[in-house]
Amino acid sequence: MSDQIYLDYNATCPLKPEVFDAMTAIMQEPHNASSVHQTGRAANMLVEKAREQIAALANAPTNQVIFNSGATEGNNTVIQHFKDEPILVSATEHDAVLKADDDLIHIPVDENGLVKLDEFEALLKQHKPALVSVMMVNNESGVIQPIAEISALTHKHGALFHCDAVQAAGRIEIDMPALGIDFLTLSAHKFGGPQGVGALVLGLCGVTPTLLQGGGQEKSARAGTENVAGIVGFGKAAELAKANIDAFTSRTRAFQEKLEETLKAFQGIHIYGQDVNRAANTTLFSINGLSSETLLMAFDLDGIAVSNGSACSSGKVEPSHVLKAMGASDEAASGAIRISTGWKTEDADIEAFLKVWHKLYERMKDKIHA
Ligand code: PLP
Repeated sequence: MSDQIYLDYNATCPLKPEVFDAMTAIMQEPHNASSVHQTGRAANMLVEKAREQIAALANAPTNQVIFNSGATEGNNTVIQHFKDEPILVSATEHDAVLKADDDLIHIPVDENGLVKLDEFEALLKQHKPALVSVMMVNNESGVIQPIAEISALTHKHGALFHCDAVQAAGRIEIDMPALGIDFLTLSAHKFGGPQGVGALVLGLCGVTPTLLQGGGQEKSARAGTENVAGIVGFGKAAELAKANIDAFTSRTRAFQEKLEETLKAFQGIHIYGQDVNRAANTTLFSINGLSSETLLMAFDLDGIAVSNGSACSSGKVEPSHVLKAMGASDEAASGAIRISTGWKTEDADIEAFLKVWHKLYERMKDKIHA
């Protein structure tokens, strides 16, 4: 295993030991949850238990949870279902929403990344969409959208509301009825579960978006043999995440405060979304003159894994679409570094990051400008 200091939890998290134990206990079994024999029925019971755990995380009825392969599938399933009608999405959505259809109408955000509610309502009146999709917590900045207000406006104008809550799960409460969410996307690997498993959770609007056709699994809402071990791990991770939200928040908030207090002392640093409601585990900053590629590589060589915003698009040289939508210059949007902490992060990791940062700053400070 890599001995790097891992500060990239918004990309993916280490598996929690309880999740690993729950999965390995059953992985060697020939579990097909649709089989009628005893082994199949045992698998089905495991899947149904996990369904309860996911439903509890979202405060949704158990029978509204549809297991799938993760949030890319969940987001595509919902967007594709409505693709023949106008769809409004916030400009800072993940590519798993933005690229799910060519004709999406973008809702502008302010300099903190929050949906501009007046302009949103004007777009609702103008386009009369069937669907609105706005994420709960942004994966690059950690900024939390006012979901209850956005869904209320959506419903007022007769549309349904989808929310990508991938970066919210385990970090803030997700109460689907209170927030007015009709379709919710979750992914296990962002909160200590395995990769390649997630869920689309339905509200009570009565619409079931479906992408994959084939077998009758998941009440015909998602064909394909259920990933039983993955689903069990997802359920366990959800149970742990729900039980630990307060503890997670206070631990990661302390890391965030320490990081940001130190970073702010450097001239020319901009920390995104710092004045608004933000997930406690995320800090996104840029400094004029330094590119994120250079910084990332330098951190990497010094044993620290951080990201340049969206991990799903790392390797790309284009500026972050999230920061561009927030009004950042091309230079700032190409220079951002994201630090995201999680369940295994310790004080020593933050100290190590800051030590390397001081060293890199000294080395590169001639390039920095106001
Ligand atoms: N939505 C958000 C906000 C994400 O951060 C990610 C992954 O980075 C995804 C969707 C895609 O999730 P998955 O890896 O489950 O396909």
